[in-house]
Amino acid sequence: MTYQSITPERRAAFGRKLRAWYRLNARDLPWRGTRDPYHILVSELMLQQTQVSLVIPKYAEFLSRFPTLEAVAQSRPARVREAWSGLGYYARARNLQLLARTIVRDRAPSAIPEHPDALRKLPGIGAYTAGAVASFAYERRAPLVDTNVARVLTRVFAPTVNPRTHSGHKITWEIARAVLPRTGATTYVHNQALMELGALVCTARSLGCPTCPVRSVCDSYPQ
Ligand code: SF4
Repeated sequence: MTYQSITPERRAAFGRKLRAWYRLNARDLPWRGTRDPYHILVSELMLQQTQVSLVIPKYAEFLSRFPTLEAVAQSRPARVREAWSGLGYYARARNLQLLARTIVRDRAPSAIPEHPDALRKLPGIGAYTAGAVASFAYERRAPLVDTNVARVLTRVFAPTVNPRTHSGHKITWEIARAVLPRTGATTYVHNQALMELGALVCTARSLGCPTCPVRSVCDSYPQ
């Protein structure tokens, strides 16, 4: 089965069950209490390839040193790198500063754009991060796919698809688009919930199928 055969009823049931579960089970993570685009962007960059438990203290520390995008733009690169220490993958810190300088130079006011296409033109912003900033900061109806989301969506809707292949990656994004709720505000919860289910229940190592909230609509779960 692929995204083309997802009926409206199934899509609605999946979304409803997923979001109801999230509202009861979501972790209280600091970046979920804000809609500030700069804060969301910092959290998303930090969370790429770094565990949540490591990111939580560094996120607060980084924002207290660099409370605004302008502060990052005006800083010496060594200071930004120092604030990033412990997280690894310093290219992310370099890209953040490059992005901050690009926005401060080219945009008035110095605002992070809200449309995924505009976000993707910025240094270091890929399709996932563009979708995350658009939906989490601006509540836009934008899809996102990271490793966790790809695993959930393919297991539920297309178990024969491998999201690591070029065609599988494309299909996974099409599924993400096809199951988006109608409004941007609901998309915020939906995208957070997809990521949370992939992190806590439908994980790479073990399947939490017996207690999974979407098992009744999942093609990988024996019905
Ligand atoms: S039922 Fe199992 S395979 Fe399907 S989404 Fe839930 S945990 Fe993943």
